[in-house]
Amino acid sequence: MKVRIHRGTKEIGGTCIELAAGGDRIALDFGLPLDGDAADSRLVPEIAGDDLLAIVITHPHIDHYGLLHHLSGKTPVVMGGAARRIVQAAAPFTGQPLPPLDGPELEHGKPIDIGAFRITPYLVDHSAYDAYSLLIEAEGKRLFYSGDFRAHGRKAKLFEQLVANPPRNLDVLFMEGSSLSRLDDDSIFPSESDLETEIAAHFKVCQGMTMFHTSAQNIDRVVTLYRACKRTGRPLVIDLYTAAILAATGNRNIPQSDWPGIHLYLPKLQAKQVKKNEWFPLLKQHSTNRIYQEQLREIGPRAVILFRPLMRFDLDGAGCLDKASFIYSQWAGYLERGTYASTEEWLRERGIEIRQIHTSGHASPKDLKRFAAALAPRALVPIHSFATEKYDSLFDNVVYRRDGEWWEV
Ligand SMILES: [Zn+2]
Repeated sequence: MKVRIHRGTKEIGGTCIELAAGGDRIALDFGLPLDGDAADSRLVPEIAGDDLLAIVITHPHIDHYGLLHHLSGKTPVVMGGAARRIVQAAAPFTGQPLPPLDGPELEHGKPIDIGAFRITPYLVDHSAYDAYSLLIEAEGKRLFYSGDFRAHGRKAKLFEQLVANPPRNLDVLFMEGSSLSRLDDDSIFPSESDLETEIAAHFKVCQGMTMFHTSAQNIDRVVTLYRACKRTGRPLVIDLYTAAILAATGNRNIPQSDWPGIHLYLPKLQAKQVKKNEWFPLLKQHSTNRIYQEQLREIGPRAVILFRPLMRFDLDGAGCLDKASFIYSQWAGYLERGTYASTEEWLRERGIEIRQIHTSGHASPKDLKRFAAALAPRALVPIHSFATEKYDSLFDNVVYRRDGEWWEV
């Protein structure tokens, strides 16, 4: 089996790995670089060709699928069923281009044969829903790609299962190392249940509405938020985008717009989108617990709203921000880069402080060590990290590769 990493040996984001065996080729992920422009076709890895049998997408984050829309759609895209539905449900709201996504589904533990390759998906704990690591077998070689993963989320059991019963006899492990540039080697991240406790404690003492900003696609975090609301008897208000994403999971154990304690509020800007695009069936589907501005005003002081910046006008209009608080529950980088400036300004004008309660979607260095030790590959190739130079001192059998180089496993 031959391997070429198009992008990812020295950065987070834009990951793409090409594999060749027996005259067939497949690619693992087709991501947009973190600072890349999705419209820039110069970023697209040169990979097309009749012998390219499939592109396998590990999880529905832009840095892993965000260049797919440049492809013709001839090549099947292999990904989780819920992951595919989430990308499809999100695109109309976010305005991101909807890529061609037709192809077989990844399912935990079910091998798929594609040409010379056998692919076995392992469901993992990550901030993206329906995320997988992949075992790839071809020409007698065994390669494992971690994708993005962690061990402190709501599916931490999956990590424990994997390290307790790891795939053996691996020639190569591609392992992500996002946390290596973000956390000391001995520190750990708080767990989702730690967050639940912290958020519930905040809900117990705060007297006004809490605006809680996280990505609706971070399903673990939405569950954490819902549980904290339930523990403290606070109603949770979501928008149509969030309702559509939660439904796209296809999992009735995940909070849904028609659950008790959850309300749908349609922000004015979204109402315009509904009208323009005739999303009336979608709105109807999520209208069981719909509330309007008057009810938002009424329940405001008790409510928690899954905040999105487009709701600012509605919240001002409802006059429900007396004693309000704000929890920022996503990557601090957006704050540091200034992409959040207008919301920060809006909050400042209303005398509302930003409180950060968040945990990473990626494994801590300690958990990466446990993972690498359990899988014990003959070669560990760094990927998806801004601190690849640290791998050598933390893990055994590290072999560095360069973007674009072909090598034989
Ligand atoms: Zn990633």
